[in-house]
Amino acid sequence: MSFKDLQLNKPLLRAIAESGYDNPTLVQEKTIPLVLDKKDMITSAQTGTGKTAAFALPILQLLFDYQDAPKKGKKINALVVSPTRELAIQIEANFKAYSKYTNLRSAVIYGGTSIEPQKDILNKGIDILIATPGRLLDLHKQDLINLDYVQILVLDEADLMLDLGFIDDVKKIERLCPENKQTLLFSATIPYKVEQLANTILKDPKRIEVTPNASTSKNVNQVLYYVPKRNKIELCLHLLRNTIKGRIIIFRRTKFGVDKLEQTLAKNGYKVETIHGDKTQNIRQDALKKFKNGYVNILIATDVAARGIDIDDLDSVINFDLPNVPETYVHRIGRTARAGNKGVAYSFCGADEKSYIKSIQQLINLQLDVIEDHPYPLDPKAKPIIHKSKTLKSKHKKGRKSEASKKRKKRWY
Ligand code: AMP
Repeated sequence: MSFKDLQLNKPLLRAIAESGYDNPTLVQEKTIPLVLDKKDMITSAQTGTGKTAAFALPILQLLFDYQDAPKKGKKINALVVSPTRELAIQIEANFKAYSKYTNLRSAVIYGGTSIEPQKDILNKGIDILIATPGRLLDLHKQDLINLDYVQILVLDEADLMLDLGFIDDVKKIERLCPENKQTLLFSATIPYKVEQLANTILKDPKRIEVTPNASTSKNVNQVLYYVPKRNKIELCLHLLRNTIKGRIIIFRRTKFGVDKLEQTLAKNGYKVETIHGDKTQNIRQDALKKFKNGYVNILIATDVAARGIDIDDLDSVINFDLPNVPETYVHRIGRTARAGNKGVAYSFCGADEKSYIKSIQQLINLQLDVIEDHPYPLDPKAKPIIHKSKTLKSKHKKGRKSEASKKRKKRWY
């Protein structure tokens, strides 16, 4: 299928061609016709599937057509609510790129930065607003945002929105928009609470599921190290020195953990950038830029800060701390092995994290390769736990060499 087959208009087709897209992705093929048909939708698709264009393109087309009707000034006709600032910025960049040959205007507002420039942008009049929930409600309270003309509401990354405690804000925002609007809900996974939200706000929605909830790419080699918590930093340094090369994201559960690891890696001569919720917006953007430009090759992040950020060509992901929500593991490792490339996901499991690994393996229906041969085993005398469930497949087990033998072959020392 081509973008032309999706009945998109010429200004959009031109912008799509300039973005370098040849054909629509699966989520775009399935979603675009339904959005153009003005249906409410619940779509399960992860970042990296092309989901942003899947809603941005038909929204632009609908608003482009609607624009023919004469009206005074620009009103917010489409509202996209995003859980994080980075994701909001990225979504707006997509809208800007695709609307290049239309006169539709978009803007993004988010917390953590001065409110004044955002007020100016809103005053100029825009068609599409991308916003994080808190700042949106804040500006609405100050009477600076009018949502009375919203025809299309998008809730992006709904599962993260709820994880971050935005449920009441989201419901409030939905009620501030007109009742007869079209609502599109996008979520990487559809847990029960997202389903509940969908039931309360969507009208006869069409459902689309692009990838199974917990699929992990066959191109990601997933390996597991059992290691005492106190030795995780040493193991990380050991792997960075000997095994892991290229562009890497290291995930930690806490902001404190991110900062601590940054200090250690910097002391050991590594060029590192970090992103987490306590950093100002400018600093986070700057860090991302340096990582994307290749000025640094290691980014340390918390899940919340990293979710939804589009970073290509990632060679490895290190799960320094295991996530306690198994779906988060799928999001994390989905950042590597994009577009047919190969990638490796390294997971460090401390004594107190064994139950997390069990849940992760059950979710992905795959047994991770346990690397036993490393300098910091969890319990040198005990064999690592290997789950023997029959449903778990050990795809990577066959032909796997120990780390020591690989090292010998490559003459690391
Ligand atoms: P998303 O899932 O929206 O975060 O998109 C992931 C990446 O895919 C972004 O870099 C997009 O620019 C890119 N992308 C979106 N649609 C297409 C397409 N049809 N062909 C190639 N790349 C695309």
